[in-house]
Amino acid sequence: MSRAVASNLVDFHCHLDLYPDFEALIAECEEARIFTLGVTTTPAAWPRNHELTRVTRHVRTALGLHPQLVAERASEIDLWDQYLPEARYVGEVGLDSGPKYYKSLPKQKEVFEHVLRRCARAGNKILTVHSVRSVTPVLDMVEQHLANTDNRVVLHWFTGTRKEALRAAQLGCYFSVNGTMLSKPVGREFVTSLPLARLLTETDGPFTRSGAEVARPSDVLATVDQLAVLRGTDRDEVARLVRANLRDLISD
Ligand code: MN
Repeated sequence: MSRAVASNLVDFHCHLDLYPDFEALIAECEEARIFTLGVTTTPAAWPRNHELTRVTRHVRTALGLHPQLVAERASEIDLWDQYLPEARYVGEVGLDSGPKYYKSLPKQKEVFEHVLRRCARAGNKILTVHSVRSVTPVLDMVEQHLANTDNRVVLHWFTGTRKEALRAAQLGCYFSVNGTMLSKPVGREFVTSLPLARLLTETDGPFTRSGAEVARPSDVLATVDQLAVLRGTDRDEVARLVRANLRDLISD
């Protein structure tokens, strides 16, 4: 891969702290100059993640409370509040009404609403949001709490309809796209319909694979290549576009 592309990659949603070589992976992203947002699933993980990424140039940490963990960890919301002033990025947060997590949906809504209210009050946060089988309530809540604020939402691994994507775009949301989303024709067709200026890339590692291996942030290059094919352009142009979108997103 050319140096220009390598230094332009963006992995906007990766669970860095779930890899056995967490620290080495941070160093790898720094070395390759991959902008990587390390998301956390519980605020208890914040101090260690924050410590390891407070002086990194390309790796950032998001403060999360994952909807799939809310059933057991809702009480950690106080800890989340405590760390919020240290965090520019928030996630993984959101809602999941898939069969395994449906039962905790009322609690998830409470937690997510709390998160949105706190972000609205604090301002200038960037959220990476999970919306499995719950796009409409997620967008309703984002609209209710974050409209007319300077907070920004990135919908991670979005699996809604085109109509829902259009509504999300109108609300100002970005979309971070991974290789698994592009593995089927219906996913590729959907991603092609997303507004170019709102497109980011992610791995959601270690929950996705690159061939036989667990995906690492550098594997977003394959996603960049797939997007280039879909858009009839080349990888450098897609990489530049995603990087420009990132700059727009994170600029104050
Ligand atoms: Mn995730």
